[in-house]
Amino acid sequence: MKKLGLVLGGLVLAACASTTVVDSALSQSLANQLFGAASRGTSEPAQTYGSYARGCADGLVQLPETGPTWQAMRLSRNRNWGHPQMIDFIEGLSRQAVQIGWRGLYVGDISQPRGGPMTSGHASHQMGLDADIWMLPPESLTLSRSERENISSVSVRTEDQRGLTSHWTPRHAALLRAAASDLRVDRVFVAAAVKIEMCRTATPEDTAWLQRIRPIAGHNYHFHVRLRCPAGSPHCETQSPTVAELSNGGNGCDDSLRWWVTDYLNPPRTTGRPAQPTEPAPPRRRHPREFIMADLPRQCSEVVQR
Ligand SMILES: [Zn+2]
Repeated sequence: MKKLGLVLGGLVLAACASTTVVDSALSQSLANQLFGAASRGTSEPAQTYGSYARGCADGLVQLPETGPTWQAMRLSRNRNWGHPQMIDFIEGLSRQAVQIGWRGLYVGDISQPRGGPMTSGHASHQMGLDADIWMLPPESLTLSRSERENISSVSVRTEDQRGLTSHWTPRHAALLRAAASDLRVDRVFVAAAVKIEMCRTATPEDTAWLQRIRPIAGHNYHFHVRLRCPAGSPHCETQSPTVAELSNGGNGCDDSLRWWVTDYLNPPRTTGRPAQPTEPAPPRRRHPREFIMADLPRQCSEVVQR
């Protein structure tokens, strides 16, 4: 009996050792290769792990490629997967788009089937809670797969980044307002010129939703909607600073917005000798494409293996 116990003990030890080897091999693997290879979501209940730019998710669902008021674009990328709340949000916004006078929405990337870092493009979009919506109003909602690969969106912002093009319409403003008014939305990223235009007519009643519209580089061909962590997501990290903190409780139509069309485009010249650095330069921040599995929340190793 004692001998059997020893043998079993040895087996257990051997099993543990081999699991550890497998785990450590997995933990050193490039995360975007593993998540990029997953073709379907997991069948677990929806759950998000980590943050928008360092995370993954269980139970993401696919936005139907074509619906009555939307089409998913660039289907070859297989990035039309989102948290059920995101899918519901997009379908709802596409119906509002119809009320605003569009035929619906062209929907760009959401997330990979299990989220995670991507093989190309975006740093975020890793939890099924980010989605890109094209600025191009759909002319047709019966585009073929190949048309959806080849058609391009339009830029609503001028090349010099200071103004808007003739593609910008009051309907775009109404659509962005509708998106930012949804209480599930944490923030909506747009080119600064877009927000500056929306600030022009802002009233105090607009503060709550206008605060959620945030300027960022790019985002002239599409806008990017980020949802808050859904209720019942204890492993999802909300973004900080919040939009309220970023705008000091105001609507964000302030100097920090003007910065995008002044100092950001024309950095002020420093006079005299450059200041001596007093501290060593911070380590270069890695792009999520460089993350290995060990950089992600531990649950993501399970998500990618399910
Ligand atoms: Zn995006």
